Amino acid sequence: MRCACYARYSSDLQRATSIEDQLRVARTYAKQQGWTIDEARIFTDAGISAASMEGRPGLQALLAAAAQRPLPFEVLLVDDSSRIARDIADAIRIMQTLKFFGVRVIYISQHIDSANEAAETLVAVHGVVDSLYLREMAKKVRRGLSGQHARGFATGSITFGYRTVAVPDPSGKLDPNGHPILAGKRVEVNPTEAAVVRQIFEWYAAGSGIERIVSRLNAEGAPGPRGRRWRSGTVRTLLLNEKYRGLLIWGRQSVDRRPGTRQRILRTLPREQWHVQERPELRIIPDDLWERAQARRQDVRRAFDLKPGRNLVRGKNAALHSPHLFSGFLRCGVCGGAVAVVTGGHGSPRYGCITSWRNGRNACSNRLTIRAKIADAHLLAGLRAELLQPQTVQYVTDALAAELNKIIDERPKIRARAEQALKEARRRLANLVAAVEDGSSTPALVEAIRAREGDVRRLEGELSGLADPVERKLAVIPTWVRQQLEDVAGLLSETPERTKAEFRRLGVSFRVSPVQNEGERPFLRAEGTTDLSVLLAGEGLSTTDATPLR
Ligand SMILES: [Zn+2]
Repeated sequence: MRCACYARYSSDLQRATSIEDQLRVARTYAKQQGWTIDEARIFTDAGISAASMEGRPGLQALLAAAAQRPLPFEVLLVDDSSRIARDIADAIRIMQTLKFFGVRVIYISQHIDSANEAAETLVAVHGVVDSLYLREMAKKVRRGLSGQHARGFATGSITFGYRTVAVPDPSGKLDPNGHPILAGKRVEVNPTEAAVVRQIFEWYAAGSGIERIVSRLNAEGAPGPRGRRWRSGTVRTLLLNEKYRGLLIWGRQSVDRRPGTRQRILRTLPREQWHVQERPELRIIPDDLWERAQARRQDVRRAFDLKPGRNLVRGKNAALHSPHLFSGFLRCGVCGGAVAVVTGGHGSPRYGCITSWRNGRNACSNRLTIRAKIADAHLLAGLRAELLQPQTVQYVTDALAAELNKIIDERPKIRARAEQALKEARRRLANLVAAVEDGSSTPALVEAIRAREGDVRRLEGELSGLADPVERKLAVIPTWVRQQLEDVAGLLSETPERTKAEFRRLGVSFRVSPVQNEGERPFLRAEGTTDLSVLLAGEGLSTTDATPLR
């Protein structure tokens, strides 16, 4: 197979990978397939936005080359579809056009191959993900979650101490497998687990340390959340969960974008702005016990001088070029400054608070460090678990289906435009041909005819693509979403540069705080947020997944 490549660099892309990097991806891919890249057929546009198709000489040259006969290449390799066009309709049209010319298009990073029937839908899905995920999805999902709360149904993963009961849709409709369609799931108290929760609060209020509670629970063989052994992080989170006092809370944080940038700012909202719903039937901990436990917690906090969370958590910093995976995505939970490799050199680099290590203990008391290798693995595992939650798949699927339906609605308009343009191109071609028949054949005229023929062929290609029904292809979405999330979850196999680009896309950020328990070696605890955790979080925008690091 002879391959051509197209690469485009622009800082407006979420994945702003260099042209060299994109071409390296293509070369590696071609090599794996045993194909050759024709160096004369590498088309690039540098520093050009994909917002419009005009003014992109590389893309124009590519289309012109693909229109030639005999075909100069069989396959076009592109890093991902956003390189071709940011606009979904454009990306699909160009792929259809190339397909019509007989060129197979492969978007390597997205595993999309135009030889596959679902390719078009997948491009659309990716386009939707790129354009909407970051801006719109969080809002939509937040709305969706609020709606579910208002109806008293479960959102996100189930909290220890409760269970869900399926509530059939009042319409009595059945799904294709004959099961009743669900209106949602209702939460109720799980008496066995509730007794364990009460016991934990009692022990804590009576003065037991968290580690002591953990060992008692595990010694008694009481199963923890999701049947796992109890860990200190789990107990700590549990003691803070206001659901146990019968309050459902969501919308604790807002995600804003710094104007003119893609930098995300996570703000903790004042408590008056939270959505709080009283649900006395879900109360497991009576108010007096809750108060006693919280009072004890305040004492512990004061003893170790742990400052409560700051109001403003900055998104990411510029440490983009460090080879360490999470450098640039970690913040110190004590001083709010960056956490990056501070010690250990090449042999065994360790993450720590930069402020503390540069400016001393007085600047920041957080002196703990952790081996980068160990932290990276832990943090990735935490992210991975979040991404693969069924709720994530469901929300993304629904949002994508809605967007695709919008595109389908646009098709008659696009078709009418393409038909008009084709008519015009044929008319011009006929005029040119008439001129040649009249005897005025010049090289310029022949060139003009060739160009018009190219136009006609391209438009015919577009129209043939538009004739395909897209509707039935919607069925591929859930599988795709799942595969996509698994791909993101499988980040470890990627190079750090690409992985970090993906982190930026997902708005990954972690706060790393020291935890000191009585009679125990202090350790670092990381709490992370991503736009995805926002999507699937149990309690609206507020939940973070705590991944203890030792
Ligand atoms: Zn610090």
